Amino acid sequence: MTQTAIPSGPADRRASRRVLIQHGERKIWVGGDAPVVVQSMTNTDTANAIETAIQIRDLARAGSELVRLTVDRPESAEAIPYIRDQLDKMGVDVPLVGDFHYNGHTLLQDYPECAKALSKYRINPGNVGKGAKRDTQFAQMIEVAARHDKPVRIGVNWGSLDQALLARIMDENAVRDNPWTAQQVMYEALITSAIENAQRAEELGLARDKIILSCKVSGVQDLIAVYRELGKRCDYPLHLGLTEAGMGSKGIVASTAALSVLLQEGIGDTIRISLTPEPGGDRTKEVVVGQEILQTMGLRKFTPMVIACPGCGRTTSTTFQELADNIQTFLRDQMPEWKKLYPGVEAMNVAVMGCIVNGPGESKHANIGISLPGTGESPAAPVFVDGAKVATLRGERIVEEFQEIVLNYVKKNYSKEYV
Ligand code: SF4
Repeated sequence: MTQTAIPSGPADRRASRRVLIQHGERKIWVGGDAPVVVQSMTNTDTANAIETAIQIRDLARAGSELVRLTVDRPESAEAIPYIRDQLDKMGVDVPLVGDFHYNGHTLLQDYPECAKALSKYRINPGNVGKGAKRDTQFAQMIEVAARHDKPVRIGVNWGSLDQALLARIMDENAVRDNPWTAQQVMYEALITSAIENAQRAEELGLARDKIILSCKVSGVQDLIAVYRELGKRCDYPLHLGLTEAGMGSKGIVASTAALSVLLQEGIGDTIRISLTPEPGGDRTKEVVVGQEILQTMGLRKFTPMVIACPGCGRTTSTTFQELADNIQTFLRDQMPEWKKLYPGVEAMNVAVMGCIVNGPGESKHANIGISLPGTGESPAAPVFVDGAKVATLRGERIVEEFQEIVLNYVKKNYSKEYV
């Protein structure tokens, strides 16, 4: 029997146009052959400019390449240029995206400085207005975007689907020989809303390469079905995200399950993970999860990865968990600085293993690895660098000494003068 090689890796990215989102010298491309972009959204009151600017800075430092913020009332629109200015003064050049609903046409027209300071607008066609006003108000927003040369995301959400369009698709379905299910009608309404509004925006003068689409739903299977079909029917870049994903592990797992399937099929040009933060929780978590989805799938590299075993009955002390946690945090905290000083460091792997069973083996596969002593083993932790044992750590200062080895490795292997 002839054996064929086992294929690996994601499908080629779906062909889409490239959209440029820009602030000053900072250019973010979405679509085409550009890497999948990670974005996030603030949850502060935009009118509170200082608090919002600080959160945007934190999201950008965590790695968010675009940050969206709601523009819901005149006070928010007024705050936008001030927020932009504060960020520029802090050296934060992340492009800002304004999220508009209901009154976007008024705000964009009445606050031209807001319209200018934003790098992209998000328009939800289900929340633009009703009846005859709908077309006029949509046209007003597109006209502002075209005048300021800003890209737009036509962002459909099933929680705010255009009811007139849904009624039309239901009527069309009623006369079918074999009517679709309610779920299929919903899918069709979401996709039609996105594509028809994009076409309308083009007719109104917005360039084709200024349009990104999204159709967000909260069910994993629904999201996969909708985006597979949306991807077939148009070549606009697609913004992926499971809306209202939820809190904690549920939100992370649901987002990962949905996005991984689509990304593996080459669908999706930018992602946002819509996590509900725990009370007082850190908003940057959604950025970390987005990056980790892309990095663990091998689509992008953001930060050195820690490979750690789960631990078992052979690891009865907490040293192992503490070291794994400490190293992961240490690596992520260093990245804003390391990105500038040590190009390529994001590809580094560090193994932190709990005992001799898989410890030395896994550590040898990583750039740097440590195999901690399991229960009953002699209290020594061999360290491996590029597959070779270089040291054995003992005593109270294992964590600090291991960190030092990692830092020396980074300086030696990724300093600009060495690469
Ligand atoms: S490497 Fe050792 S401690 Fe870690 S899971 Fe395997 S047997 Fe348990």
